[in-house]
Amino acid sequence: MFKLINERSKKLFEEAKKVIPGGVNSPVRAFQSVGGTPVFINKAKGAYLFDEDQNRYIDFISSWGPMIIGHAHPEILKAVKNQVENGTSYGIPTELETKMASIVTSLAPNVDKVRFVNSGTEACMSAIRLARGYTKRDKIIKFAGCYHGHSDSFLIQAGSGASTFGVPNSPGVTKGTALDTLLANYNNIEQVEALFKEFKDQIAALIIEPIAGNMGCVLPQSDFIFKIRELCTQNNTVLVFDEVMTGFRLALGGAQEVLGIDADLVTYGKVIGGGLPVGAFGGKKEIMNFLAPDGPVYQAGTLSGNPIAMSAGYAMLTHLKANKNIYESLDQKTKYLRKGFEAILNSNQLPYYINSIGSMISLHFTNIPVIDFESAKSGDNSYFKNFFHGMLANGVYLPPSAYESYFLNDAISYSDIDHTIKSFEKIISKI
Ligand SMILES: *Cc1c(COP(=O)(O)O)cnc(C)c1O
Repeated sequence: MFKLINERSKKLFEEAKKVIPGGVNSPVRAFQSVGGTPVFINKAKGAYLFDEDQNRYIDFISSWGPMIIGHAHPEILKAVKNQVENGTSYGIPTELETKMASIVTSLAPNVDKVRFVNSGTEACMSAIRLARGYTKRDKIIKFAGCYHGHSDSFLIQAGSGASTFGVPNSPGVTKGTALDTLLANYNNIEQVEALFKEFKDQIAALIIEPIAGNMGCVLPQSDFIFKIRELCTQNNTVLVFDEVMTGFRLALGGAQEVLGIDADLVTYGKVIGGGLPVGAFGGKKEIMNFLAPDGPVYQAGTLSGNPIAMSAGYAMLTHLKANKNIYESLDQKTKYLRKGFEAILNSNQLPYYINSIGSMISLHFTNIPVIDFESAKSGDNSYFKNFFHGMLANGVYLPPSAYESYFLNDAISYSDIDHTIKSFEKIISKI
């Protein structure tokens, strides 16, 4: 229906599938929920991706978050090039790690100490282990539709009926693991209260995306997060904010700053590495001092604090700190995109619901408010597929799944957004 020349991508995908499961190293890239062939990227600069067939796309996923100042930014490139000349990894401490930790602790609220890892998954997995070691309790609460990486404790979905226990949502996750993960619906404080009551003095941690981005963008309603803070304090449960997506993206102080709420532990990823594999978890020293070698909770990594990754991350955070206006600029651009989309959707009378905050936005083809995973699932996926492929054929790369937020980057210009809006207008009759 939409014409995209992608012969080379098609060929590369076939070759990839022979040697990589599904042809990709992370499932969403395979276009399974939208169908068709993923485009293979050859290079990127600023706001644009260029594929192997020489198509150009305005990039609204920004590597799923990290590229907040655009691709191949000169300051990041310079930092990486300078470091690379001095070696790529030592497995021995460097001053760079302390510099990076200092800038993180100075920008992130409630983070006295931080440990670097290599991904958001590792950060969340380690934060939960630390919370369990610190509280000497086993259970955790997570919310349906929130993503905290692919470690076993988080690959859990709600059990059937009235059961408060979760069940594995991937083969390979044991029933035993599932028993320690309790599920609640986002924005449903009654369910959280009930869990704290039923499992009194057993809940080590509550982990949440304080502003969610993995069921599309979903915002916490009224005092939901405040109540969660209160419940965690009352029950001596460690409140873990998963800011892998929101950290350094919504503000220098992340969602903690935007919402005005203090977490006990915070996890980071994505923006913090400037496009290199960096994750981090940090928090109050009383808790962080429980980590080995100071404390009993084991956690380690051969490439953790890698000098190239630290250089890229440090350059990124330094740039953001010196250019705080980026957050306002991204917010304005997102609002402009939202208005453009709304005007088209209204005049075409398609059902829709849009959530957005800062540089995150998602369009759901549903007419009910999207406030949790259930309502996010009510979106019409056939509309979404056509929308996605129509935009792609017009040079706009959107997340290839209805459950992902867009991430604007600051290299995107108003004329790029105008092109995006016009493309939508062009294709909407075919949705
Ligand atoms: C992406 C993401 C993760 C996982 O990070 P990876 O680097 O992909 O392992 C965890 N939590 C949230 C909120 C994320 O968006």
